Amino acid sequence: MEINGLNITEKEFDVVIVGGGGSGLRASLEIAKSGLKVAVVSKVFPTRSHTVAAQGGITCAIASADPNDDWRWHMFDTVKGSDYIGDQDAIEYMCSEGPDAVFELEHMGLPFSRFDNGRIYQRPFGGQSKEFGEGGQAARTCAAADRTGHALLHTLYQANLKAGTEFFNEWFAVDLIKNNSGEISGVSCFDMETGEVSAIKTSAVVLATGGAGQVYEQNTTSLICTGDGLGMVLRQDLPLQDMEMWQFHPTGLYGNGSLMTEGCRGEGGYLINSEGERFMPNYAPKAKDLASRDVVSRCIVQEILAGRGCGDKKDHVLLKIDHLGSDNIMKKLPEIREISMTFANVDPIKAPIPVVPTCHYMMGGIPTNIHGQVITKNNQGEDEIVNGLYSIGEAANVSVHGANRLGGNSLLDLVVFGRAAGRHINDDVSKSSQSSLSKENIEQSIMPLVKLQETKAGESVFALKAEMQNIMQSYFGVYRNETLMKEGIEKLKSVTEKTKKIHLGDKSNQFNAERVEILEYLNLLDIANSTAYSALERKESRGAHAREDYPERDDENWLCHSLYFKNNDEVKKRKVNLSPKSVDAFKPKARVY
Ligand SMILES: Cc1cc2nc3c(=O)[nH]c(=O)nc-3n(C[C@H](O)[C@H](O)[C@H](O)COP(=O)(O)OP(=O)(O)OC[C@H]3O[C@@H](n4cnc5c(N)ncnc54)[C@H](O)[C@@H]3O)c2cc1C
Repeated sequence: MEINGLNITEKEFDVVIVGGGGSGLRASLEIAKSGLKVAVVSKVFPTRSHTVAAQGGITCAIASADPNDDWRWHMFDTVKGSDYIGDQDAIEYMCSEGPDAVFELEHMGLPFSRFDNGRIYQRPFGGQSKEFGEGGQAARTCAAADRTGHALLHTLYQANLKAGTEFFNEWFAVDLIKNNSGEISGVSCFDMETGEVSAIKTSAVVLATGGAGQVYEQNTTSLICTGDGLGMVLRQDLPLQDMEMWQFHPTGLYGNGSLMTEGCRGEGGYLINSEGERFMPNYAPKAKDLASRDVVSRCIVQEILAGRGCGDKKDHVLLKIDHLGSDNIMKKLPEIREISMTFANVDPIKAPIPVVPTCHYMMGGIPTNIHGQVITKNNQGEDEIVNGLYSIGEAANVSVHGANRLGGNSLLDLVVFGRAAGRHINDDVSKSSQSSLSKENIEQSIMPLVKLQETKAGESVFALKAEMQNIMQSYFGVYRNETLMKEGIEKLKSVTEKTKKIHLGDKSNQFNAERVEILEYLNLLDIANSTAYSALERKESRGAHAREDYPERDDENWLCHSLYFKNNDEVKKRKVNLSPKSVDAFKPKARVY
């Protein structure tokens, strides 16, 4: 088929998954095993997805470190960690299904670290407790040294090869395709190596495109984390949920952003200020350095603001692990040592590592139910399922992380909800029939590509992106207030205006990095706006959203999700699910660590 001079090839699969990270590969595995024809489209080779960078581990009550551990304790911690806007039905599902999903990975061959008795090794992580917060620190994060994501992703990729999943590697998905009845019925994409453009017709699309940490100047995420699936959803007039909630990890490597896993503190490391003082016990007497990430990040900023930051600029603190001993560090944190030596010139066996809070994880995302089905609000203000569209992983907001994610809960989210979506699709797709796509349907979806190809002069993506990242960093960081955010929104408006004149200089087809960068940037800009408007709207402090002008949590008005629609930058409220099936709901309490 030819559209506007572009030659479009057509393909057909029962299911198309956009994203070859942990969530996408867990879903595709479930689907391929059922015999359906499933394609994974990934802009990088799947094992290069950001999941590969996950260090610390996967949290789940497999009762290895403590034979009495209970998934309900894990659920309590997760609800509390979420500052009570995590959906309790989803958290219940994740924590109770978790052990089975982790043992399944073990049986697929994931090389977990082990205790001497042969069981999977578990380390303590932030925000973990026993007996519903009353029994002290728990050790619930299963790890393969400090490269758990690497082990998980390779295990899943190999299982997919065996199950017959078809891969479109280094193919970039541009947009969703709707049929004449307005249902999601395909994806448009192109092969980055050759420029071949393709329309893939399908009964179900799964957006597993990962996070969007690149929206901030300083972040721990890969360059590919640009939230492309979120952009696609916004362009269909569908909402994003809780986009004001970004996790700043307390320990990004100073000056570089690379993550120094929470496992460092889990293994006994701690933070010190310029006076050499271990400061976390002053703020969180019980949990100390293992308080939740939002809490620790704010404490670091407080120390810096009080003039106790380290270095010439007094703008960071130090993570001390040398007292753990070289044997321990070499065995449990080998990658951390390597990254620290390579990028900060510090050997943590001998000296503390310079660290600073850095954007790490997107709690917000595409709203879904526990089967991964995408949800929107209809005109009556009720939840409505979007037929044929699913989302899982960091791109989705199911929502198990609420206003703050606990360490190790993302990898668990990937495999539990990847599997759940796969199961639901297996049931659903075998019952549905594929509708046909018209030339106009496909044309609409590839318009962004056509328009870019026609630009003759204008703004450079590189300058626009840097400007946008800088605005997000300066106006929507760890601490926020109305004056600052309104200023930020004005600046975003100016970048958004300039972006209308964006220009693609390189029109070639083979590995055209500029074309990819523009498409990614357009998605990032939509995400930046969704964050800005949602953050301005939420007039309280909760989890990662800390407002100087509204320092308290306000359950009366804000124990709810925010839903952002691109149209008019509108923000609506959506109810939090407080009805788990098998346990009583955990009622909101003050969150102390
Ligand atoms: C440094 C670091 C360490 C972390 N450590 C941990 C940890 O120890 N424990 C934990 O639980 N969590 C951790 N996290 C978080 C966790 O790793 C991520 O949330 C999770 O891996 C995301 O997985 P995903 O499947 O959603 O997406 P990703 O793994 O990010 O994969 C996204 C996929 O989408 C594809 N894609 C995106 N856009 C397009 C497009 N337009 N076209 C085609 N393909 C596209 C990409 O090619 C990729 O395959 C860490 C995160 C970081 C950044």
